[in-house]
Amino acid sequence: MLLDAIAGWFSHDLAIDLGTANTLVYSRGKGLVCSEPSVVAVTTKGDGRGQRVLAVGHAAKEMLGRTPGSISAIRPIKDGVIADFEITEAMLRYFIQRAHNRRTLARPRIVICVPPCITSVEKRAVRESAMSAGAREVFLIEEPMAAALGAGLDVTAPTGNMVVDIGGGTTDVAVISLSGIVTSRSIRTGGDKMDEAIINYVKRKYNMLIGERTAESVKMTIGTASTETKASTMEIKGRDLVAGIPKVVVTTSDEIREALVEPIHAIVETVHLTLEKTPPELAADIVDRGIMLVGGGSLLRDLDQVLRQETKLPILRSEDPYTAVVHGAGNALDNISLLREVALG
Ligand code: ADP
Ligand code: MG
Repeated sequence: MLLDAIAGWFSHDLAIDLGTANTLVYSRGKGLVCSEPSVVAVTTKGDGRGQRVLAVGHAAKEMLGRTPGSISAIRPIKDGVIADFEITEAMLRYFIQRAHNRRTLARPRIVICVPPCITSVEKRAVRESAMSAGAREVFLIEEPMAAALGAGLDVTAPTGNMVVDIGGGTTDVAVISLSGIVTSRSIRTGGDKMDEAIINYVKRKYNMLIGERTAESVKMTIGTASTETKASTMEIKGRDLVAGIPKVVVTTSDEIREALVEPIHAIVETVHLTLEKTPPELAADIVDRGIMLVGGGSLLRDLDQVLRQETKLPILRSEDPYTAVVHGAGNALDNISLLREVALG
């Protein structure tokens, strides 16, 4: 243990959860060292060719929806796939350099969590980005595997474990047994689609346009998946679509629940479809052990309740849904034999 900690201190090996909404970095021996939005602000040069990175993370997210023409705030990982390689590499470099301790000589070993549906071209690009950002060795772990490890599930046992990770861009449902993903399904519905649904609802109902950040805050404050949640209200500000001027309306939790029906239904359906594809022995294990929810989207009020009603299975929420993936990858970093067992080839 002590020797391990010392080795970790000297090399500062890193685990990175490159999420669609947030990037988290765990440093061996230090714990979580960075948690920032996966957003990069770039400015387009005068000639229209080439881009220059202005800001990454929190500073860049502040700019979302508030940029003048020559600046754009980009989320390089859309819908769980890398939409922009160059920007992703710039972001990765920023996070690695921030977490890397210059006093240490050794270059870090880096574990990166990737979406389960990643293509081999994308895998190579992520590896190369991390190598060129200074890694000595790169391991890739599929996010559901890391999430299961982080939520404390025994992924190496011959037992079925189901993990549902509701992120910003995607929801990934996976069944894990014997250190591998037995079956998985991914949909491009997560927190972002919920925000979009709220924007559309407010547009239809109140003739008012609200921004993504406002929609997200409405979702987090009064959003719910269930009709049984205690009612609440919230003031929201936006632009009147008819008069064209700013206005304020009061919306209710029940309206927001109605707005969220479609994305919630899509998530529930994906869980159902994955259960149908699960081999019977593993399905039997899931009946006993339940389904583990992770990801920021799983924090939506009473979503666990709705999943419980719809599946009749025990639904567990990981202690810290935001950090389950990065902590799982961190666990693997601390245990090289486990890392070799769960990492992608
Ligand atoms: P990713 O792994 O794709 O980066 P995260 O696991 O960080 O995503 O989750 C981000 C999503 O979680 C965002 O869409 C955010 O709005 C949503 N989220 C965070 N907190 C809450 C909450 N309390 N209620 C509903 N959604 C939430
Ligand atoms: Mg995630």
